[in-house]
Amino acid sequence: MTLAAASGFRRLFGNDPTGVWAAPGRVNLIGEHTDYNEGVVLPFAIAERTEAAIASRQDGHIRMCSLQHPGEIVELKVRSLSPGLPRGWAAYVAGVAWAMECEEGFDLAIDGSVPLGSGLSSSAALTCSVGLGLNDLFGFGMTHRQIARAAQAAENDYVGAPTGGMDQIASLLCRSGHALLYDVRADTTEQVPFAPEAAGLSVLVVDSMIRHGHASGEYQSRRQDCEESARRLSVRSLRGVTVADLPIALEQLGDERLVKRTRHVVTENQRVLDIAAALARDDWERVGRLLTEAHESYRDDFAASCPEVDVAVEALLEAGALGARLTGGGFGGAAIALIGTDDIDDARSAVDAAYDERNYQPASMFTVMPSAGAQRIA
Ligand code: ADP
Ligand code: MG
Repeated sequence: MTLAAASGFRRLFGNDPTGVWAAPGRVNLIGEHTDYNEGVVLPFAIAERTEAAIASRQDGHIRMCSLQHPGEIVELKVRSLSPGLPRGWAAYVAGVAWAMECEEGFDLAIDGSVPLGSGLSSSAALTCSVGLGLNDLFGFGMTHRQIARAAQAAENDYVGAPTGGMDQIASLLCRSGHALLYDVRADTTEQVPFAPEAAGLSVLVVDSMIRHGHASGEYQSRRQDCEESARRLSVRSLRGVTVADLPIALEQLGDERLVKRTRHVVTENQRVLDIAAALARDDWERVGRLLTEAHESYRDDFAASCPEVDVAVEALLEAGALGARLTGGGFGGAAIALIGTDDIDDARSAVDAAYDERNYQPASMFTVMPSAGAQRIA
């Protein structure tokens, strides 16, 4: 896959960029809505990525364009950066410059291959490529962790999208052939070998094409449910509750909705650790079963799925997937399946048939490979 940030830069600005930085999207293998509960997650970077071609300017102006928004050049002064301005995609770029306290201007062209809004984190691919680029270009000397925090602040405080910190950490720290076990409370990461292809397996993504809106209510309301549950249980976050504590904790909550939300988060943390352990043993059957259990929990207890993704998961399992689940923030987006590489064609046909039968618009399907994290590429 060739992206065209550098040539787009030349065409629009008439000179060469100083450098090009790339950052990947990610698939969250498991661990949904656990990040902001100080829990554990297990994402891996994918080959789909965003490139940012950047050169500095002397006049304090920022000019930016995205090849995904042809014909639009957004211009503003670095001194006037302030949350709320501009809106739309350019806010992600402006937010990174703001969070990094940039004082100099720059020209920037981006090109990306991560599908937007499908739960594969095109937003982190964008903010992390820009963050890594500005850090190099202006010599800020920030670590990858610090860049991840700035990229998260850009989304949370500038764009106004209440996401946890997983996406940015994954985009910056993941390694090829590995998933990244990220423990939010301990603030530690561990590379977990993840090479399904060596076992004749693939990860198939089925993008339902139903788009979520993070900035809108549902994600925020799940967060509030988790915070309220933690408050009632007198713990700092739901990470403070283990599977062994669960029966007593659920009784103490005394609210059906909060019981369900808490049960999802607590069991999900355990599933993340169980999958990491199963991967270490090459126990792919168990990995698959845990993925499907995670889907059921996300769908029934966290109520964050949608019919289109549920139908895809069912079709994938019927077509022989070892396991399948909704990945990403929920309320739309993509399903992933761990599936025999030889069964992929059947699975695609099964999803197409199931969608056709219900008059859904066709799903977009592709396989993903555990790939490298963000890096300078030119
Ligand atoms: P996700 O991160 O799951 O893809 P989000 O809603 O968090 O979904 O982020 C998607 C938004 O990120 C897009 O609507 C757009 O504003 C911005 N974005 C991501 N990649 C690009 C790109 N290549 N060009 C312009 N905007 C982008
Ligand atoms: Mg996002």
